[in-house]
Formats: sequence, C-alpha cells, structure tokens
Amino acid sequence: MGQQSVMIDMDDVMVRGGFLYLINEYLGTSYTEDDFNDFHMQNIIPDKQDFFKYFLTKNLYDYCEINEYADVVIKELMDYYQVYIGTAYVFPEVLRESGIILLHKYNFLLEKFPYLTPQNFVFLMDKSVLNCTIKIDDSIKNLSGTERKLLYTAYHNKNIEKKTLESQKIERVDGWLDVRRLLLKK
Ligand SMILES: [Mg+2]
Repeated sequence: MGQQSVMIDMDDVMVRGGFLYLINEYLGTSYTEDDFNDFHMQNIIPDKQDFFKYFLTKNLYDYCEINEYADVVIKELMDYYQVYIGTAYVFPEVLRESGIILLHKYNFLLEKFPYLTPQNFVFLMDKSVLNCTIKIDDSIKNLSGTERKLLYTAYHNKNIEKKTLESQKIERVDGWLDVRRLLLKK
C-alpha cells in the first residue's frame, strides 16, 4: 500500500494572526481573536473597499506567526505521509489582485518551512478537488468528502459542539501536538 496523503491548510492551521494584525493596524483597534466568531474578520470593517486597498499594499505573511509545533510536526509527518499544503489565496473583495497573495504564500512557505518544496504546494479555491485521505483544516466545508477529517481549532470554530462534529465524523485538534498524537501516535 502506498503512503497516505495529508492535506494541510495554511491560514489558521500553520500560521495565524496576520490578517487580524492588519485589521487592527487599519482601524486603530486592538481586537483579539476572541472578539470574532465570524470566519470573515473583514465583516467588521465599515469601508471594506478602502481596507482592501490598504491590505494590498502589505504582505500579510510579514505579520503572521507560526502556530506552535507546526514546523516540527509537519516535518515529522513527511516521513510517513505525502504532505500537501492546500491553501486558498483569493479574497473575493479583490479578485483580480489576489495573485499577489499567492506569491506571498509561496515565498513564506519556502522561507519558513525549508524542508517543503513546491511539489508540496497546492494553491486552489475549491479544496474538494484535492483528493487526500486526510485533511487538516479550520473550516468544516474544506473537510467534506475526505476519509479522515481533522478540524483545527480556531476562533471561528471553537464553539462547534462535539456531537455536531461527531455526526460528521470530524475529529477536533487543538494544536499540532494533537495532530502528532492522532497521525503519528506519539
Ligand atoms: Mg484556514
């Protein structure tokens, strides 16, 4: 039997915080993740068009932090699984300008995760086209159709109840040590 494949989402799974940082910078606020339940943080901004004009002058990934143990656990996973970073890069608000976000993601991944190569990257919109046995994502929608579904805890999904997840055969992971425990049994 060949190696199983794992899709790993990037935003709010490998990294976090950049988008929130830019929202705060733009609004002059000090919101934290706990202030949000909505996946789309930008919905709190009154003039979204103006915000995205500002947003496009920045590299979101200059302001991201890597989630604890992501680096080491992804490297370990690569010894046992085919690993694909499955990440979307389009903001509908700036559809035509979103290519720059792909470039920023590409550069960030190569620089901060030097053991990954472009062979490991899949930049896409609809993650259902990616046929991996296991998927790790913070959005339930992106886990559908997969054999093993790991929901990575994030601000917008933390209140989803255990029985709701169980009914969809989704396992919750609170961080990368949970991923290691479930997929590497250590
Ligand atoms: Mg995500």
